This record gives sequence, structure tokens and C-alpha cells, in this order.
Amino acid sequence: MTLLPGPKAREFQQRLLRWDVRGKRSLPWRQHSRTAYEVLIAELLLRKTGMATVRQVYEGFLARFPSPHELAHAEISEIGAVIGILGLCFAYGKSLPLVDSNVVRVLQRVFSFKSSKRRPHTDPVLWQASSEVIAGAPPARANQALLDFAGTVCVHQNPKCDICPMRDLCDYFQAKGDQTRA
Ligand code: SF4
Repeated sequence: MTLLPGPKAREFQQRLLRWDVRGKRSLPWRQHSRTAYEVLIAELLLRKTGMATVRQVYEGFLARFPSPHELAHAEISEIGAVIGILGLCFAYGKSLPLVDSNVVRVLQRVFSFKSSKRRPHTDPVLWQASSEVIAGAPPARANQALLDFAGTVCVHQNPKCDICPMRDLCDYFQAKGDQTRA
């Protein structure tokens, strides 16, 4: 059983991937020479904080932990010291949620999707909704695009609806327009 209306989810995905091509910025973790480990570290950091902060700590983190070997043998406190300004606490090898608060926000706005959980990003139902949005697309690219979109366009405060490619799909935007017209 699917949660989201299929045609709308597919249209959202297509627009997201088109936006990703247009909106792609020159980011250090997107260089072609990056290893899978280096890309993974960027993705983990981006799930926890904003792009500007990750830019500040990314190269320093890789300089200290250039491979999984160094990271696996580091003390958690040492990892914390390197990325301390992020307030992160994650252990190597521990899986992190694929749905974070940014993805939750986009799904709630565009699809009026509500979770009954107090912490929606832990809700398995939201994980399913997220997987429906990226179904059939290369997962790494679609997930990254979704995170970037949430972090630059559909931001927490003052979402940039005026430049958003999802406007006519977005329940939040439609509702806002209805309120203005009422
Ligand atoms: S129209 Fe506004 S609220 Fe809707 S997805 Fe775009 S930025 Fe977010």
C-alpha cells in the first residue's frame, strides 16, 4: 500500500531532480575525485547541520580521519573534538536515520503529511513516505537533492516559495494562497 498519491510523488521527484541539476553548487564533497567514504561523511554531517557549517569542518575532518580505518580507531571524544561545533555525537558504523527534520518538513508541507509521533523523523510511516518520493531514482542523488532542497528552498523559516518549482504541487503553498484570498 502506498501512502502518497503516486502521480504527485512522481512529479515531485522529477521536479526535484531537475532542480538539482540547475541548483547544483560547487560543493567540496561533490568533486568527482571524492571517494565513497568522503561522500558518506559529507552526507552524515549534512543530516545533522546546515551546509554552511559542514563547509567549515569538512576538510578538517577528512584531514584528521582520511579513511574509515582512522575513524574506526578514533575515540568518540576525539571525533567530538574535531566536529565539536556541530554538537554531533555519532559512532562509526551506527546507522543514522534517512529521514531527518528537514525531510519531514518538506513532506509535511508538500503532501500535508502528518505523523502521529512526537518525533516524526523516527516514524516508520514517514520513512515509507520518503522512500515513495525517491522511488526509482538513484537513491544517493535523490536523497542529496531532497536535503539540499530542504536546506536552501523549503527552509524552516520563510520558505522561498517565490522561487520554488513545487508551488502548484505544494499543499502548504496552496493553503497560504487560499488564506490570502479569503
Ligand atoms: S512552495 Fe514553499 S512550502 Fe511548498 S515546497 Fe516550495 S518552498 Fe516549500
